[in-house]
Amino acid sequence: MEKIILIATSNEGKVREMVQAFDGLPVRLVSLSRIREVLPHAEEIAEPVEDGATFMENARIKAWYYREKTGLSSLADDSGLSVDLLGGAPGVYSARYAGVHGDDAANNAKLIAEIAARGMDHAPAAYHCALVLALEDGSELTAEGTCRGTIRPAARGSGGFGYDPHFYLADGRAMAELTREEKHEISHRGAALKIMKEELHSLISTAS
Ligand code: IMP
Repeated sequence: MEKIILIATSNEGKVREMVQAFDGLPVRLVSLSRIREVLPHAEEIAEPVEDGATFMENARIKAWYYREKTGLSSLADDSGLSVDLLGGAPGVYSARYAGVHGDDAANNAKLIAEIAARGMDHAPAAYHCALVLALEDGSELTAEGTCRGTIRPAARGSGGFGYDPHFYLADGRAMAELTREEKHEISHRGAALKIMKEELHSLISTAS
């Protein structure tokens, strides 16, 4: 029987990345927005409360929430930025660091201000991504990826999202200056997805 995996995110950009990353695996990936293609009578599912202390805890909360609600194997991710100088902040609060969820401009302004308040104009940082695939049999697969860089006050580039214009790589480019393919090659999410693809591949090979 065809294996179905629900991509448990309403972010269509992430859906595209995940579909691309799992290309070649014998699984059917279905996003939340298309869930009725496999569960015609599915009701609207409210978003889960993400109150974990770590990226992995939040990814786990989301994956198991949708696994319970739909009965389908569900893949969820959680990601964010950690700055050592700020004790790991913004961390799990990355999306709403300045108060309003998804306000990238305000989040970036606060980040640069917090670093400046500590007498620095740049600070080492890392993006983190945690993935959890909650399986139908009650077990789970997990994967993590990290991408290191430096936060600097000058904003450069128009690609990516979130903190990317201020996140500089070792080669001097800001993350927002990379093409989507270049970012996928080196990003925290790209790294976690590669590991998850391998884990899923061996799970499928063992089962068949
Ligand atoms: P979430 O995983 O969609 O909840 O993302 C949390 C937040 O982390 C985003 O809103 C961004 O602020 C930040 N973030 C996660 N990944 C990236 C990235 O690749 N570039 C820039 N910001 C990111």
